[in-house]
Amino acid sequence: MLAAHLVPGYLMAAKSQSTWKSEWTSRQRAFLWAVALGSTVAPDIDVVRNMLFYGFLNHSVLWTHSIFVYLGLGLLWLILYNLKHGSFLKTAVGLATVGGFSHLLLDVVAHGTPLLYPVSMMPFGIAPARVVEGGFSAYITDPIFLLEPLFFGLAIIHWAHHRNIAPRFKKLILATTTSGLVLFAVAFILLCTASCQPTSPSPTDDANPLSHAWSATGERSGNHFGYVEEKEPFTEVAKVPNLTGIASAN
Ligand SMILES: [Zn+2]
Repeated sequence: MLAAHLVPGYLMAAKSQSTWKSEWTSRQRAFLWAVALGSTVAPDIDVVRNMLFYGFLNHSVLWTHSIFVYLGLGLLWLILYNLKHGSFLKTAVGLATVGGFSHLLLDVVAHGTPLLYPVSMMPFGIAPARVVEGGFSAYITDPIFLLEPLFFGLAIIHWAHHRNIAPRFKKLILATTTSGLVLFAVAFILLCTASCQPTSPSPTDDANPLSHAWSATGERSGNHFGYVEEKEPFTEVAKVPNLTGIASAN
């Protein structure tokens, strides 16, 4: 999943605000918003680094998608909760925990992820096989991609519903967002029906550095690149054509 990861962060921060203490400063509140939003996208930060510095768009670390990291955060939150003090820190840790779990959940839905790393490299996912095997290009041409605008649509409707604006404007935003989503979905499905082919390994796709799927072995599988172990972080980079014009470091 791409930018839609942010939506659960927005929703949980908005929901959590009612429990925030009045004495917390605007800077503290901004920090909590940053934690809520940032924790939902932080697991993919290595993709941004790889894109900016190594010229390919894919993961190179695994632990950011390990459920054990977020179970540890959850345990920390539980300790803080039972200590019954440090409510600001507890709130921040709670938001980061939920943000991390939401990222994993959406990745499981969108393409699969090795939740049990480092115990197991087995990817968990419910996405269609063409998305799992086809990576990024398959994801953005599959109906599962419609979850992205749907999530943003829900966030816009939630935002409008909780703003102090005239009811007619709320209805207008609801109608505009809903009709926009429906039109986009219909156009997307029609276009996909006309042009999207089932994904199968091919020389062209095999050279696509935008592939975003996961591999159970960390090696190339089918037409996508899987994760690369951190101890050899960019062993696949040399094999990936530099289509972005950014020079590879290795
Ligand atoms: Zn991810």
